[in-house]
Amino acid sequence: MNNELCMRRFGLIGYPLEHSLSVPLHRAAFQSLGIAADYSLFTIQPLPEGEKDLLALLDQMRNGELQGLNITIPHKEKVIPFLDKLTPTAQAISAVNTLFIKDGHLFGDNTDAPGFLCDLYHHYPEFNTSVQLRNKTRRALILGAGGAARAVLFALANAGWVVWVAARRVEQARNLIASMDFSSSSKKNVSIRYDLPLTPKSIYPLLDDLDLIINATPVGMFPKIDDNPWLLDLDLPKKAFIYDLVYNPSETLFVKQAHKSGLPAVTGLGMLVEQAALADERWLGLSPARGEMIAAIPNHLRGTYLYEA
Ligand code: NAP
Repeated sequence: MNNELCMRRFGLIGYPLEHSLSVPLHRAAFQSLGIAADYSLFTIQPLPEGEKDLLALLDQMRNGELQGLNITIPHKEKVIPFLDKLTPTAQAISAVNTLFIKDGHLFGDNTDAPGFLCDLYHHYPEFNTSVQLRNKTRRALILGAGGAARAVLFALANAGWVVWVAARRVEQARNLIASMDFSSSSKKNVSIRYDLPLTPKSIYPLLDDLDLIINATPVGMFPKIDDNPWLLDLDLPKKAFIYDLVYNPSETLFVKQAHKSGLPAVTGLGMLVEQAALADERWLGLSPARGEMIAAIPNHLRGTYLYEA
């Protein structure tokens, strides 16, 4: 049969997309699975300007011309009214990053939340102990209250963590939590504290109890690589794991500070790979090789990133 006819088509909708790593990541995933598929970028203007083009792509999914789509900024929330159904995770987070067809319905899913948790557990397996088996509560502090914080918050709270959200605009954290829906959560008593301004005075009293600190702000991201989301006149705690969602540069200033303080720390490169791999799993029912996906990332971003399968 003609190769082009059996070629499956996938892609990413967003704006802007110049710096996206999705094409090399997904192409490496398809190759690792031996699947004839391609992945393209679809630059779609923010709505309302981009609505016609967005709907045309969704139609291509419904009629089978496209087998799957990823969604990124600024469409993660705006696309929801045009879908038939949401998975429980996407429903809870009110944002989608992956579209797939099931039983004739166009579904929206969110693989950022499980992608974050999988990568966290990969780097720090001790965290992957069930609440029943460990004798203490795990506590995390999220810096920032935007879209990425939303996925991280859901993942951790749903896994039984006590989570604090510190934002420079406390109101934003309050709205974020109010807009989330934990009714489908497996945890009955989701524990979130959010009235925390991003200041040394409010964060200092928490430090000794924290197991994990996540940077979910863009602070430190290329080109402003000399910025640090951690508050300058506050030492990092003695034992926390540091997870910086920023992955460009390959070692952020926050990660460098953590290493200097003797703390384990990683960037969000693994989460980026994991959320992409989980999208491929939704579309293909097969799990791609993470190592091969990471190898497809340009050297300057991969740096000395270590991923042991
Ligand atoms: P977003 O929706 O714009 O949210 C950013 C958050 O950071 C907001 O709460 C914002 O507050 C806050 N913030 C921005 N600048 C700040 C500053 N100078 N000081 C304190 N807070 C500040 O962005 P996002 O989608 O959540 O993304 C956040 C970062 O995560 C980005 O760097 C993104 O690349 C990264 N990310 C990584 C992955 C991954 O797979 N590794 C996935 C998603 C996102 P204001 O509203 O007040 O500005």
